[in-house]
Amino acid sequence: VLDIGTPERSVVTTCAYCGVGCQFKAEMRGDELVRMVPYKHGKANRGHSCVKGRFAYGYASHKDRILSPMIRDSINDPWQEVSWSEAMAFAANRMKAVQEKYGRQSVGVITSSRCTNEETYLVQKLTRAVFQNNNTDTCARVCHSPTGYGLGQTYGTSAGTQDFDSVEEADVIMVIGANPHSGHPVFASRMKKRLRQGAKLIVIDPRRTESVEGPHYRAQHHLALKPGTNVAIVTALAHVIVTEGLYDEAFIRARCDWDEFQDYMEFAADPRHSPEAIELLTGVPAAEVRGAARLYAKGGNAAIYYGLGVTEHSQGSTTVIGIANLAMLTGNIGRRGVGVNPLRGQNNVQGSCDMGSFPHELPGYRHVKNPEARAIYENIWGVKIDPEPGLRIPNMLDAAVEGTFKGLYCQGEDILQSDPDTHHVAAGLAAMECVIVHDLFLNETANYAHVFFPGSSFLEKDGTFTNAERRINMVRKVMAPKQGYADWEVTQMFANAMLEGSGRAPWGYTHPTQIMDEIATTTPSFAGVSYEKIETLGSVQWPVNDKAPEGTPLVHVDGFVRGKGKFIRTEYVATDEKTGPKFPLLLTTGRILSQYNVGAQTRRTGNVAWHAEDLLEIHPHDAENRGIRQGDWVRLASRAGQTSLRADITDKVSPGVVYTTFHHPDTQANVITTDFSDWATNCPEYKVTAVQVSPSNGP
Ligand code: SF4
Repeated sequence: VLDIGTPERSVVTTCAYCGVGCQFKAEMRGDELVRMVPYKHGKANRGHSCVKGRFAYGYASHKDRILSPMIRDSINDPWQEVSWSEAMAFAANRMKAVQEKYGRQSVGVITSSRCTNEETYLVQKLTRAVFQNNNTDTCARVCHSPTGYGLGQTYGTSAGTQDFDSVEEADVIMVIGANPHSGHPVFASRMKKRLRQGAKLIVIDPRRTESVEGPHYRAQHHLALKPGTNVAIVTALAHVIVTEGLYDEAFIRARCDWDEFQDYMEFAADPRHSPEAIELLTGVPAAEVRGAARLYAKGGNAAIYYGLGVTEHSQGSTTVIGIANLAMLTGNIGRRGVGVNPLRGQNNVQGSCDMGSFPHELPGYRHVKNPEARAIYENIWGVKIDPEPGLRIPNMLDAAVEGTFKGLYCQGEDILQSDPDTHHVAAGLAAMECVIVHDLFLNETANYAHVFFPGSSFLEKDGTFTNAERRINMVRKVMAPKQGYADWEVTQMFANAMLEGSGRAPWGYTHPTQIMDEIATTTPSFAGVSYEKIETLGSVQWPVNDKAPEGTPLVHVDGFVRGKGKFIRTEYVATDEKTGPKFPLLLTTGRILSQYNVGAQTRRTGNVAWHAEDLLEIHPHDAENRGIRQGDWVRLASRAGQTSLRADITDKVSPGVVYTTFHHPDTQANVITTDFSDWATNCPEYKVTAVQVSPSNGP
């Protein structure tokens, strides 16, 4: 414990890093935040924390923060600091001019999964009620959009089925394409506690991650598959369950569509899906797959936790469907200790999806084509809602390059660093006539902006975040916004500048609680949510309504949200990203414990000391073949581009596979990645890139 003496005051708030949603007491001396103390009553963390939430808050007062709005006519001009009112007038005039010249559909927004529910709700409202189109998308596009599609199709709702407490009753834990040790550390510690008590572990991951084995546990089965073969593995698990009669017929008859099950059973039982048939393709010994399937089906309560190693593939949605099938096949859903749980990356990615950030869905996952849902908003917003889905982020960028999309309001998201095919993103941004970046720092995307709205950190605002277990946690203002306004106020000012002269009433929210009240009025799954209730109960898990006034820890208990659970065939289709003589290795990516995403925050804190650079993990055989020694600089090249980094020779990766993190901008990981994406959602295929690795003299 750091000795800081007696703090003058403390405020309980919620971590703004990962989707676990840990709560902390922010201890203050004057205006200075001196310590973050894990909050013992936090329902997601129960007094635990990791090195990000605990120590990496200094970015909020880092000298790089921009505290004044800035504008410029051209991206080649220097920035000019202006007042908030000048910035709003400039931004609104420019955005209105774009819409007048190129049409209503020529502009859009990107919401932030770092911002609060209330802020995200306002940004999508800006799109639908002020821009009057549905061109709103979120960074979930590049991470968990396949979860939305896959779980929506099979179960009827796009969210994890359990609370974190549920893992304490799991007998078998299957982790697919995730490394909770690094990505979701506090959940990982709860999972590891259960493993130490004797629960069995199955890990499906190309790399021997820190989650595969620890001081007091070791995975019974580690299926170290070749990147890109998730669907083949998941279907092979189903094959074993079906052909060995390990499925739960009573559950399926009661809870799922029996005809669809029979069709799926016929598909899964096909010998071409057997573990032996896919062994060469996946690189996983058939006996391991058979053992894992038997353990999952017959080992007692079995819970699945998965991450971006599932979703960020050209068949990301298919794998999510395959995972949902496994839980239905074995009856591992609808009670404690089981379920299907996406480990959400960002603190409020669940919330940004819930709040209607997608171009086809209003808040609460109601399609924009649904006239009853549209009517709710039309009545209170006094404007017609466009019944046609809008553009996804990649479509916005394509349209920008083609010359039909010209204006973007991008809140809390650095798409130039985060999105695939950096050159294409840059070309799209450069072709726009009004780019507004709303962020803490002048990020890479801001190089293409005409307006910069300085953002507020999570310490400077009130609101709510929703974590990976659908838990709505309070975010409380610890200090005044350094640049004057919380992000929801900035969005409101911009909306009102856009509305000026339209004859329509300006927005008049004076506190985020009013925004939450509007969300509750318009969104059935939030009908019973209020700040008063969250303050009283500590947090609530949606749905919160008349049937569940105190929230819902487990969903799909008596029936699936969609009615009968739906089995869907999961045909494996190889990615178009192929290895060959020129690009013989497969690159996959991940994170480390102390850092967060592209590092915009953690690199501006003391945590950078734990990770000075991204390294390329390469197997000893592959290194030796190329004359690469430990720590050497190597050139990493793909069909899309190239970069340089240092080699870390390790057998954590298999021969033929290399791995890196993407926390430092110098790594430019997305210069390397392809522009292939998930067939259903356009989620980029970040996890599979054919590359060559060769010795180099450095960057
Ligand atoms: Fe924050 Fe996630 Fe770490 Fe908890 S586990 S302290 S939410 S980064």
